[in-house]
Amino acid sequence: MPRHALISGASIAGPALAHQLHARGWRTTVVERAPRLRDEGQNIDVRGSAREVLRRMGLETEALAAGTGEVGLRFVDGAGAVVAEFPAGTGGTDGATAEMEILRGELSRILYEHTRASTDYRFDQQIRELTEHGDHVTATLHDGEQIEADVVVVAEGTRSRTRGLVFGEVGLDELGMFVAHLTIPRTADDDQWWRWYGASGSRSVGLRPDNRGTTRAMLNHLTDVRGLETLDRADQVTILRRTFADAGWQTRRILDALDDAPMYFDAIAQARLTRWNHGRVVLLGDAAWSAGPFGTGTSLALVGAYVLAGELAGADGDATAKTAAALARYEERMRPYVDWAQDVRPSAIRAMNPRSAAGLAVQRTALRAAAPIMSKLGRITGRASRMPSIMTELPHYPAPLRPVAPA
Ligand SMILES: Cc1cc2nc3c(=O)[nH]c(=O)nc-3n(C[C@H](O)[C@H](O)[C@H](O)COP(=O)(O)OP(=O)(O)OC[C@H]3O[C@@H](n4cnc5c(N)ncnc54)[C@H](O)[C@@H]3O)c2cc1C
Repeated sequence: MPRHALISGASIAGPALAHQLHARGWRTTVVERAPRLRDEGQNIDVRGSAREVLRRMGLETEALAAGTGEVGLRFVDGAGAVVAEFPAGTGGTDGATAEMEILRGELSRILYEHTRASTDYRFDQQIRELTEHGDHVTATLHDGEQIEADVVVVAEGTRSRTRGLVFGEVGLDELGMFVAHLTIPRTADDDQWWRWYGASGSRSVGLRPDNRGTTRAMLNHLTDVRGLETLDRADQVTILRRTFADAGWQTRRILDALDDAPMYFDAIAQARLTRWNHGRVVLLGDAAWSAGPFGTGTSLALVGAYVLAGELAGADGDATAKTAAALARYEERMRPYVDWAQDVRPSAIRAMNPRSAAGLAVQRTALRAAAPIMSKLGRITGRASRMPSIMTELPHYPAPLRPVAPA
């Protein structure tokens, strides 16, 4: 009998794991709280060895073809004039815009299309209870159905609920910033650049191209207020309108579109857990190690799924001790990468969203000075040079990955 993984969450980490476990002979079930695959959000980048994971899955060409076509990042002033520009990277790791820049929803859709024939997807469903029996786990879903699995993988994102059933309440490190990602109508002067406008008052506004004929807008605000992500949409919209009313540049256009725009709203937080598994229940992706929206979350999720599948498939015979050893190795391999990704200094977030007009002027001067140097170096921060080795070199696992044809 094939071993069975029950995975909770159908965004990036969940379907990526389902793909790789199926390719290694496992049976997979994915439960997703939303009634259908979620499409909101904006561009995410796939860097370093995460590109290699997609290549080994047979999905790299399709993901590149579905890219947004973004050509780089431009900082603009209130009149739309360019302050500094950083062209897209051409390699796997460099540039503020990565070579593989794709909508989160597009990558999720590709992963789903390539797994839906082999995976039992249950939308509009959640895990209510988990019971460990030593050699397997029983999950009770909200509708009362019970599912038995060799391993349960929680890939529900930063504010995962099922994680709490096993690990208790996990305190998140709130970074004091909320982000609203919106999909708005495209206008004639929207180009292929990611345009970033810093307004004073710790606010920034972004517009990015997509490959769907629309534009992705971003509203960021640094604030001491907590819990905004728990408000309902109408209240979040009211707060966005109030906060950004006088921000300038193209903000009015974004606020005008708010009522109808698909929106993903979140307060930025990091999850720092001392361990990622409890018996046969294991965390993956943002649920395990959310680092914040700084360009690493999706790459971490893909590499994490690859490593978890490789380690689990290698645990021959499925004895409980072997599963435990596989989960320990998964954690050992991923920790350095996660520690690196979570090393985001609050001062860097403040520097990107200055409070005063004077701070904004300093930021623009610094960006003007940095642009020619960074363009030559080919990256916007020195972080890439400090990447741990798993970011550039994937472990090899004996069980080969078989590409799974789309349904
Ligand atoms: C709608 C959406 C939009 C996003 N937009 C951006 C963006 O624009 N920029 C960016 O940098 N990052 C964005 N992210 C986060 C980004 O996808 C992750 O950082 C990264 O890809 C790792 O993904 P993940 O699969 O671990 O978690 P996530 O992408 O957060 O996905 C978690 C999934 O689990 C589901 N889920 C949550 N709770 C439950 C539950 N109790 N039971 C079952 N399912 C559950 C969610 O609906 C979601 O589909 C977005 C995430 C989502 C869900």
